[in-house]
Amino acid sequence: MGSDYKIPYKIYLEESEMPTHWYNVRADMKNKPAPLLNPGTLQPMTAQELGGVFCDELVKQEMDDDTRLIEIPEEIRNFYRMYRPAPLVRAYCLEKALGTPAKIYYKFEGNNTSGSHKLNSAIAQAYYAKKQGLKGVTTETGAGQWGTALSMACAYLDLDCKVYMVKVSYEQKPFRREVMRTYGAEVTPSPSDTTEVGRKILAEHPGTTGSLGCAISEAVEVAVTNEGYRYVLGSVLNQVLLHQSIIGVETKLAMDKYGIRPDIIIGCAGGGSNLGGLISPFMGEKLRGEADYRIIAVEPASCPSFTRGVFAYDFCDTGMICPLAKMYTLGSGFIPSPNHAGGLRFHGMSAILSQLYHDGYMEARAVEQTEVFRAAEQFARVEGVLPAPESSHAIKAAIDEALKCKETGEEKTILFGLTGTGYFDMVAYEQFHNGTMTDYIPTDEDLQVGFDGIPKFPGNLQ
Ligand SMILES: *Cc1c(COP(=O)(O)O)cnc(C)c1O
Repeated sequence: MGSDYKIPYKIYLEESEMPTHWYNVRADMKNKPAPLLNPGTLQPMTAQELGGVFCDELVKQEMDDDTRLIEIPEEIRNFYRMYRPAPLVRAYCLEKALGTPAKIYYKFEGNNTSGSHKLNSAIAQAYYAKKQGLKGVTTETGAGQWGTALSMACAYLDLDCKVYMVKVSYEQKPFRREVMRTYGAEVTPSPSDTTEVGRKILAEHPGTTGSLGCAISEAVEVAVTNEGYRYVLGSVLNQVLLHQSIIGVETKLAMDKYGIRPDIIIGCAGGGSNLGGLISPFMGEKLRGEADYRIIAVEPASCPSFTRGVFAYDFCDTGMICPLAKMYTLGSGFIPSPNHAGGLRFHGMSAILSQLYHDGYMEARAVEQTEVFRAAEQFARVEGVLPAPESSHAIKAAIDEALKCKETGEEKTILFGLTGTGYFDMVAYEQFHNGTMTDYIPTDEDLQVGFDGIPKFPGNLQ
């Protein structure tokens, strides 16, 4: 090999089957998701108001209901190339173990160090912050996946990263915390005394172990009170679903290439970003009347936003300082029982998915924790991948659908999103193995407490 030898990089780029554009499903929705409202005036948030919290390009993406395809900047595509295209796998061994005539495919988003799909949006959000010349970003993290993904993205772009981590996770998940610190993030247990809202929450609830809503309030406060900082969020927002559409576009490209058409598409739903991303191009066809798919959101029975929540404007955070979003919600004051569906414990849901669900374009079901872990273990033993508890909600529903096909003899094609790996969740697996895992389902009275905290104004919750 001579010194003038050059790797045929161009050829590699052209042959890569990675999409060049994100797909914005809002462009094909007749009923657009409701705009974010200013909690003070109850008027739609303006770009200028949102610009105080988010970086400018992300504000544009957040508010853009019309542009169908948005080009992925070259720098972001270069980062994606480290772990994308993500594998689309036929689960032959699972099919065989179930004895089903169904064909099962999964899109695996766990093949990067952060271990989940969250990196797809983390790198995009960090990139736009860097491009705007900001010093850094703030965020919250619950189970730790989002904080990990963002830390990786910020390290790559040399941006400062401040993470507010729900206190109970900070204490119980030291490994996640140390991964973030390895990538250079500053990790603070929330609630903390570093913010006004944190001090207030601590005074009102001494000894609290924190919540995602509370950590969001702290991270937003730090972003808006520090020059050169903006807040970033790992799910729920329209911009996050847009970035995550890479999952669905890649999947659709691959399936089209091999002439495969899914009958059923399944994803777990926390804030809705992986599910929204996976289904986007398929939903687009459905919205345009070009094809039909059964789409199923799977959520934990302990935090059932779609299946038992209400469709209303609500706060995204406990501190009630964020804009109001119209979504399926259990109320920002709803505190889910301690369980292991970490990333699925948010009280609300993406406004895009909420609107689509409300309009009847998708279904939702809630599943209990122990049956989710049973499915996770069955999957791990035959397919090899050790799934995240969140992802295992989708596995559980995929197995159930495949078993239905066994009864009816139908050869359906099932596609589900395997959002991540579960190596940091072994305490949960341990409880499952020891038989100490419980299935807590909130009572109607429990839910009422959350509903009571939803803001009441004309047109909302009438
Ligand atoms: C965060 C997370 C989820 C849930 O978030 P969505 O925004 O609903 O996709 C699912 N799986 C894993 C592995 C996660 O880390």
